[in-house]
This record gives sequence, structure tokens and C-alpha cells, in this order.
Amino acid sequence: MSQAAGFPPGPYSRALFERAHAVFPDGTTRITVERDPVPRYIARAEGAYLTDVDGRRFLDLNLNFTTLIHGHGFEPVRAAVESQMRSGICFANPTEAEIELASLLCARVPRLERIRLVNTGTEAVMFAIKAARAFTGRSRIAKIEGAYHGAYDWVEVAQASVPENWGPTDSPAATPYYRGMPPSVLDDVVVLRFNDAAGARQLLSRQASDIAAVLVDPMPSRAGLIAPEPEFVSALQETARDHGILVIADEVLNFRQDYHGAAARYGLQPDLFALGKIIGGGFPIGAVGGLGDVMSVFDGSRGRPLLPQGGTFSANPISMVAGHAAMRALDEIAFARLERLGNHLRNRLEDIIARENAPLSISGAASLFRIHPKPTRPREFREAHCNPAQAKVMKEISRFFAGHGIVLPGGAAACLSTTMGEAEIDVIAGVFEAFLSENSALIEEIV
Ligand code: PMP
Repeated sequence: MSQAAGFPPGPYSRALFERAHAVFPDGTTRITVERDPVPRYIARAEGAYLTDVDGRRFLDLNLNFTTLIHGHGFEPVRAAVESQMRSGICFANPTEAEIELASLLCARVPRLERIRLVNTGTEAVMFAIKAARAFTGRSRIAKIEGAYHGAYDWVEVAQASVPENWGPTDSPAATPYYRGMPPSVLDDVVVLRFNDAAGARQLLSRQASDIAAVLVDPMPSRAGLIAPEPEFVSALQETARDHGILVIADEVLNFRQDYHGAAARYGLQPDLFALGKIIGGGFPIGAVGGLGDVMSVFDGSRGRPLLPQGGTFSANPISMVAGHAAMRALDEIAFARLERLGNHLRNRLEDIIARENAPLSISGAASLFRIHPKPTRPREFREAHCNPAQAKVMKEISRFFAGHGIVLPGGAAACLSTTMGEAEIDVIAGVFEAFLSENSALIEEIV
């Protein structure tokens, strides 16, 4: 297999990128846009496939950062949105549609008793943290090193730590994410290492009286897409309970793992949840929810609540009906099918690695997977961190996949959708196998 036309991006993408520089700093509107060095501009998409402005077709394993669990142009979402558009786009008043979506979510997820709908995952995480503060009267939070939770300042701490600044293993440093980040923000964040049960117990109990919440994504994607070990889950849970610290599950991405959500899957019992992505059916959304007594901080029925929360586009009916149509179609059968498909893919990739004796490993669960240029599957962020030779291999894998018509996210989660089946798994496995057999010299540099 030789590199085909999908990489590098073609002349129309290059021309658009040049135009974009006149209006956007660096030519893009979000740091997360993949570019090498030019991003691929998309003209249209359908089902499992994207078509770029140069007329090239790609199997999409990004799906707008895991959002589109039914793939592109899912008919029930389109129909619901078209119908809502005829009735009105957004109002200052509530609609029945918000109750429908919230009821579906609360019925599925244990401990999700009350909910507030917002516009993004960032906003959901932000309000979960504010709710924990309002409930406990404490201001600090604990979070996992390297975990991504959106753009609220406190959750950006230690998001991009590197070996030069991440500090000792038993007290990870609260590193700033941007120049000028207030030192007070750094002081307010306790950084824990994922899957370090003893460290979590020690760091949380030492500073417990100031900590409102421990924020945890059950399988942090940018920190490695690694499963939580049961001892780690118990350590967080027990220490939090002993010290009156709330547990916030950030399931913005990993809600796609299970009909009952990712916390239920891994035995975590959160007091608060942050949701987003798939629950909007492809439209902007977020949700903060949790136990009724904690969520009562939002209750304004007796005057000003402990935590006032509003938003012009919050619970807008387009996102509500789109989300409801997508989630209703995502029944237990659909989740079970995605689980089988994901297991099948991860097993195939692992078999290929073993056959080729390549120093790579695979992580993930359900419909999510990530390739690591590491001979052993990492257990946490520091182990998943790539040195320059490993980073080069990841870049070449993404290029090779693009060259063969597959969009494979680099340092984050890749995902499947309900529109995919065995044929797509065969294509992904075939391209991966070809990459390994054609790049053995490059791969050997990893170890
Ligand atoms: N938390 C997690 C775990 C996420 O993956 C993301 C988005 N990738 C966010 C929060 C932020 O969500 P949004 O981009 O909708 O603001």
C-alpha cells in the first residue's frame, strides 16, 4: 500500500487556509483543529464519511471530537430539527422539548436526579464546579494531571504539564496553561495522578478542608484514554466521602461508553455530572446534573439561589430536539452493538501489533480507541506522554491513515459510530497493518 491522495490536503484546502489567515489568528478558530500544516476543509458529510473541498472522501474517526455517535446527517435528528425550525428557533421561555431530553437522561443515569441544560461541555464543567463550591462553601478543587475538561481556568491547570515542569510523582505540580494565568488559580487546584490510589488518598486528605470537589473524567482521553483501576475509583470515592468533598464526573466525552453513563460503568458514584457532546445530537449542548440536594443550589423558587445560572442559548429547542432524537435512537441494543464493534476493532489492532512484534499498544473502551507508540499500554498521563521519536510515529500514523482515506485523531480519542460495521473495521485494521509493515525502521526508533 502506498500513500494515496488523502494526504497532504489539496489545493482548495490550501487556498481556504490562506484566506483564513486574514481573519483568524493562525488561520483557525480553535486550537484543536488538526493541521499538518494545513487543515482539511470539509464540504459535506454523510453517514461514516466526510468529503473535503478537494473532493476526497474519508472515513471519519473524529466525528467532531466524538460527538456524532450516529455519524453524519442522522435522519431522525434532521427530521426533528426541521420540524422545530418551523415552530421557532429559540425563545426566552421554556419548552416541552427540554423536559423530554432531561427526563430521558435522568431515567438512564443513576444519581442524575436533577439537571440544568447549558451550551457546551466547558460550561457544564464550570457550573458543576461552581455548584460544588456553593454547596460546600469551599473554593479549591482537585483534578487529574493531563486531563482535559474544557476552557474554565481552574480545570486548565496541569492540563499541558510536561516532564520539565510536572514535578515529583507524589505531588504533581499545578502548572499554568497560559501566560498570565493568575497564581491564585494555581493555588486553588490540587493535582492528582490518574490511577495513583495512594497518592489520591494522601493529597486529598492533606488539604481536605478547603477542597469542594474532585473532578474526574472516568477515562480521560487526552491523558491517555486509560481505564480507571478499581482501587483508584475507591480511593477517590472513600476519601471524598470521609472529608465532605463532592465527586464530579466529567462525562462530556465518555457518556458515549454506556447506556447508564461512564461513572456507572466504572463504579464511580458522583454527586455531580457534566455532560455534553452526544446528548445534543450534533448541536451545541452541555448539562450539569446530579443529586437533588446538591442541585438545589440552582433552585431559585424561594428567591436568589445559592448559585444563579442562566444563558441566552441554554436549553434552546433545536439542541433539545436534536439531542432527544439522537439519544432515543441510542438504546441498549445500539450501545451493545457499539461495544462489540469496539472490542472487535481493539482486538484486531492488538493482534496485528503482536503479529508484527511492534512496540505499540491500544487503549480505550466501548466505541473509543487510541493508539499509543508505547510497547506497554500506559496506566496514566506521564506514561502516555510521547518523546519526540514517539510523537513522530503518531504523526506518521495519522498521515498514513489520511493518505488512505481515514481521519484518525492524533493525541486524543478516535471513535466509531452506529453507522459503521465490519466493513469499516476491516478497512481500519488493513490500513494499520500496512502502516506497520511499511514503517518498521521508523517504529524501531520508539524503543
Ligand atoms: N470535558 C471533556 C472530558 C471533554 O472531552 C470536553 C471536550 N472535548 C469538554 C469537557 C469541553 O466540552 P466543549 O468543547 O463542549 O466545551
